[in-house]
Amino acid sequence: MSHPATAPLTARLERAQLAGSVVSLLQWDEQVNLPAGSGARRGAQLALMAELHHAAATDPEIGLRLREMEADPALLDADERVLARHARRDFDRATKLPPAFVAERAALDSEAFHAWVQARERADFAAFAPYLERQVGLARREAAYLGFEANPYDYLLDKHDPGLTEAEVARLFDELRAGLVPLVREIVASPVRARPGLLRGFPVAAQEKFLREVTTAMGFDFQRGRIDVAVHPFCSGDAADTRLTTRYAEDDPLDSLFSAIHETGHGLYEQGLPLEHLGTPLGEAAGMAVHESQSRLWENQVAHSRAFWRHFEPRLRAAFPGRLDGVTTDELHLAINAVRPGPVRLEADEVTYNLHILLRFELERRLFAGGLRVPDLPAAWGELSAALLGTAPENDARGVLQDVHWSGGAFGYFPSYCLGNMIAAQLWDAARRALPGLEEDFAAGRFARLLGWLRENIHRHGRRFDARTLVRQVTGEELSPAHLLRYLRERYAALYFPPKR
Ligand code: ZN
Repeated sequence: MSHPATAPLTARLERAQLAGSVVSLLQWDEQVNLPAGSGARRGAQLALMAELHHAAATDPEIGLRLREMEADPALLDADERVLARHARRDFDRATKLPPAFVAERAALDSEAFHAWVQARERADFAAFAPYLERQVGLARREAAYLGFEANPYDYLLDKHDPGLTEAEVARLFDELRAGLVPLVREIVASPVRARPGLLRGFPVAAQEKFLREVTTAMGFDFQRGRIDVAVHPFCSGDAADTRLTTRYAEDDPLDSLFSAIHETGHGLYEQGLPLEHLGTPLGEAAGMAVHESQSRLWENQVAHSRAFWRHFEPRLRAAFPGRLDGVTTDELHLAINAVRPGPVRLEADEVTYNLHILLRFELERRLFAGGLRVPDLPAAWGELSAALLGTAPENDARGVLQDVHWSGGAFGYFPSYCLGNMIAAQLWDAARRALPGLEEDFAAGRFARLLGWLRENIHRHGRRFDARTLVRQVTGEELSPAHLLRYLRERYAALYFPPKR
């Protein structure tokens, strides 16, 4: 770092990130600890902190220092170019939206959220449609302010994953769909079935202890992170203080365990970001899809594998005496890898999950291209659900109203979940080539070599590379759904397609 504007710019960026981290901590506390009667107080605290955060992120000094750096690019080293590029992007996005627009959106977000909760309770899409209509309108206007008037959906994708376009995502998803729909049909037609309700009566205290053993083995650093209980599992915070949540149910121990493993994957990425760059783009995650690739890789490729359970199955049996007496190793493994197509994304397994995302992407792009009107969404949802999943939702609550995202105007967000799955499978393939004997490691409860490889190849880079560049660099190939399709077919054929006699 050599440019004279770098140090003052970095100081301002760190200050803004620090303010943002307080907002995030208040939000974490709201989900985990807040007394029921203290919501209004928290609302006021959050509003003030959000204002201070916004002021710090739009500090004119940031603009000034950026212009100085942009004026003599020859003086910038590689890291400074990354810093200037991303800081410019963030600064423009924070300053180019008129304050009246920002206020209008904040008001609508809150109104639309409450309208969504009520509409979902009554399974009544028509009651929510006017709010959704307005959110689509605001998203279009936001895209226009940022220079994407002609292609708003590109803007919405790029917002979560820099550089992604609708055409590119459509190409990847078409290829995925062509391979995935037949695989799901074959699994559904298989005589093999997971036994439902296999795992019941798992005391929560013992679940917490077991989960701590698993996440510690994965490498989560509890000296600068925590796992608590919240209704919806999430990961927040940063490399210096990473907060994870899960939830517990005595009759669904796999839900709490895999939710925690998923969030720990996110947490390991945060903890692996370079602390010396905390508060600047060099210390931030590369984007939503890469973040999701880290959680999915640990949750699916690692923790759904035979090798992982070779180590943890005896420990699970010991932690819950008697609970698994009538359950064989194969039955347990099948319960962990149960595939059941259904209408609800959050209940989906790792195979059919991707089809839920394909459905949302298709509807969002039609909505923004103007080919689909908001009132026609439920019908289009039903048709696509039948085509992709072989089942249509019985009502709007379990269909078009099931996700919170659109009520907050979060369009273009869903694709990152599926892209994360693709990236995870592609990284997994590369990791196995680079680290022979990886599954023997897992069977012995050792995960440090995999974590070290992810630290070296993904985490330490911060935002230096976008998702596609990162994938190309680490795997030597372009991002492609081929790896995900191959991984799913291999793992699920072994479970569901018994050799014919
Ligand atoms: Zn996630």
